[in-house]
Amino acid sequence: MTEHAKSPRPKDWIMGIAPYVPGRSTAGEGRKVIKLSSNENPLGTSPHAQAAFDGGRGSLSRYPDPGATALREAIADKYALDPARVIYGTGSDEILHLAAGAFAGVGDEVLFVRYGFAVYEIAARRVGATPVIAPDKDYATDVDTLLAAVTPNTRVVFVANPNNPTGTYTPAAEIVRLHAALPEDVLLVLDQAYAEYLEPDEDDGGFALAQGASNVLVTRTFSKIYGLAAERIGWGYGSADIIEALHRIRAPFNVTTAGQRAAIAALADEDFVHASRRHNAEWRDWFAREIAAMGNKGLRAIPSKANFVLVTFSGALSAEAAYEGLMAEGYITRWLPGQGLSQGLRITIGTAEETRGLMAMLRGLVEAAG
Ligand SMILES: *Cc1c(COP(=O)(O)O)cnc(C)c1O
Repeated sequence: MTEHAKSPRPKDWIMGIAPYVPGRSTAGEGRKVIKLSSNENPLGTSPHAQAAFDGGRGSLSRYPDPGATALREAIADKYALDPARVIYGTGSDEILHLAAGAFAGVGDEVLFVRYGFAVYEIAARRVGATPVIAPDKDYATDVDTLLAAVTPNTRVVFVANPNNPTGTYTPAAEIVRLHAALPEDVLLVLDQAYAEYLEPDEDDGGFALAQGASNVLVTRTFSKIYGLAAERIGWGYGSADIIEALHRIRAPFNVTTAGQRAAIAALADEDFVHASRRHNAEWRDWFAREIAAMGNKGLRAIPSKANFVLVTFSGALSAEAAYEGLMAEGYITRWLPGQGLSQGLRITIGTAEETRGLMAMLRGLVEAAG
């Protein structure tokens, strides 16, 4: 019951949003917490980025560069893109919301795959559009089911590649096939939040598509491999017309001064990115092998190209019991019943010590469950 007889009434579509649930960052009382719930970089931040961030002191009374000029140029340089077609946001989350906001509204449909990134549904509902969910193919993105779900009302299609929370990857040929079969007036958003974790010779072709097509927006973030999650910096690349529309609705000073400086330095520190990718690949492989060894107990690691692994549980130990058991020991993972994944735990690859420690705890829980 409301306490007032009359009060402002939120739009029905706003009240239809299930609030985003962030990864937990606290465990039981007095526990040393090992946070493996938000896909952050266990190696931290590039020391050069940290130094650039610290050097941003002294400018607190001034608004940041509203055009993020130096950052856009650094991005364009690195990826051989046109700086005028780079949009930046308060995290790539903002860019995803801008895409839905500029291209969809009441009566329109926003399409994504089952077990897609949780923000897509919120972004669709926030603007009054209808989320449409295409079936997955063993947790992975299925281009055929996505295409089958396209209707005359479809305005935006979101594809995360690699996908979160599944870690699955859709190869370039499939992305090209999806784009080729989509109507040209449907915006394809390729969310590449984890692209830097792919091997250098792996590329889903997103930038090449965005260079030439009128209906492709690629998004990237500094929150994941670059280790700048606290500063909230993301960016996107698309046609001049798409970018122009997004600029109209973004917040005027949406990326902080220290964040812009840190991001530029982070982009330049290829050694840090390389070391982060190597660490992740090594421990993700180790993690998958350890889970495979518990296959007879119903555990399965969904093949991942990101910095986390979705583990499914079909034996005596449930995902929920594993989540609670790990939490009791200070290991925070992500159980996702709200996303239809009550059988799965998404676990970020941590440091060597964290990853080994988590696996030892998990093995203990599996054995105790019988
Ligand atoms: C983490 C993540 C993002 C956004 O992160 P920001 O911190 O807002 O840049 C976007 N898409 C996916 C799939 C993610 O996992």
